[in-house]
Amino acid sequence: MSIATDRATDQSPATDTGLREGAFGNAIALSCRECGHEVPLGPHYACTECFGPLEIAYAFPDVTREQIEAGPRNIWRYKALLPVPDDIEQSPNMEPGFTRLLKAHNLGRELGIDNLWVKDDSTNPTNSFKDRVVACALSAAREFHSKVFACPSTGNLANAVAAAGARAGIKTVVFIPSNLEQPKQVNSAVFTDSLVAVNGNYDDVNRLASEIAGEEDGWAFVNVNVRPYYAEGSKTLGYEIAEQLGWRLPDQIVIPVASGSQLTKVHKAFQELIKLGLVEDKPYKVFGAQATGCSPVSVAYKAGVDAIRPVKPDTIAKSLAIGNPADGIYVLDICRETGGAVEDISDDEVREAIVLLARTEGIFTETAGGTTVGVLKKLVETGQLDTSLETVVINTGHGLKTLDSVSGTVGPAATIEPSYAAFTSSGIV
Ligand SMILES: *Cc1c(COP(=O)(O)O)cnc(C)c1O
Ligand SMILES: [Zn+2]
Repeated sequence: MSIATDRATDQSPATDTGLREGAFGNAIALSCRECGHEVPLGPHYACTECFGPLEIAYAFPDVTREQIEAGPRNIWRYKALLPVPDDIEQSPNMEPGFTRLLKAHNLGRELGIDNLWVKDDSTNPTNSFKDRVVACALSAAREFHSKVFACPSTGNLANAVAAAGARAGIKTVVFIPSNLEQPKQVNSAVFTDSLVAVNGNYDDVNRLASEIAGEEDGWAFVNVNVRPYYAEGSKTLGYEIAEQLGWRLPDQIVIPVASGSQLTKVHKAFQELIKLGLVEDKPYKVFGAQATGCSPVSVAYKAGVDAIRPVKPDTIAKSLAIGNPADGIYVLDICRETGGAVEDISDDEVREAIVLLARTEGIFTETAGGTTVGVLKKLVETGQLDTSLETVVINTGHGLKTLDSVSGTVGPAATIEPSYAAFTSSGIV
């Protein structure tokens, strides 16, 4: 597995392709994660030699903590480490990032973890971490002069693409599985007149998107043909966690896994910070979280195998319901190499964890966050997580998007007549 490396070259391949000088900042090429083959920066995502996934390679200049700290309180404070132009702040987008890192005293006490933090990405502009990746994809789409900004989505991505496209003035077309939660459908449709509900699961929607991307010119599918640029946005979660801890890496981190992109990029971010000398080099463990109803990576982890067998998702954690995860094998590598693990929990445990986080920390998470917090709990109970080490858990989305998942679990403790007598006999106090 390769990560972005510093490279001694002044020649940006970008200049041969008609792209604006500096269009991708310090990025210098697309590099195959499998065979290392390099191609010039462009709207490509698969290696022409081996069909492996392409990722961004950089020639980073010296970057200091002071430079970053002087930047805006959003992801563009890390623009030197992203494939975006230096003038990115001039272009309208959702300006996500720099979300709060909260010390979780109560949840930590409940789970027996001494030093626990919640990175709360539900406060991004469209209430999930997807605003980060979409901001980077939008920048790429602009530089490629794309006409249409599009995505196949498990829900949150559709919300983020539709909103960012509206603000940027680019036509958006977003594709979702037709059985998606109603709030996520409305949260997209309010921003775009081109929400397409497909009768199929996410993997069907994704296949359709790849077909359209191959047929239509000028479409930027954020997680298909501009995926290398999109994926880099997840690194900002890792940068922020390190900066907010006082330029330090945590000892353990628990991250939800859908395609696996976020987990691999948080790890990449930590490695880049070490390489750039912005944090001290130290070991850390990465843990992946899945719902049992869609747990192909967890199944492979537990079986001790390298290959991931695709599944048909059946879980309330719809934003994690990717049965054939593109980055699943890299998640396995990272979790094994760092001494972490991949774990999964039932839908009932997801619901319980949503309520647990809400009642201990005042944070309402969606099913993906319920999955992550529930897996954290299970990792403690099964002895896979060291409760004496500093631990971060990522909340990736807001509970208002998946209200139905807990509306049968929580509700009024009593329904009474408007009298003091009725109240005192209700058993509430
Ligand atoms: C998309 C998503 C994830 C995981 O994304 P991957 O990078 O595909 O693994 C996690 N949580 C939420 C809420 C999401 O929408
Ligand atoms: Zn290759």
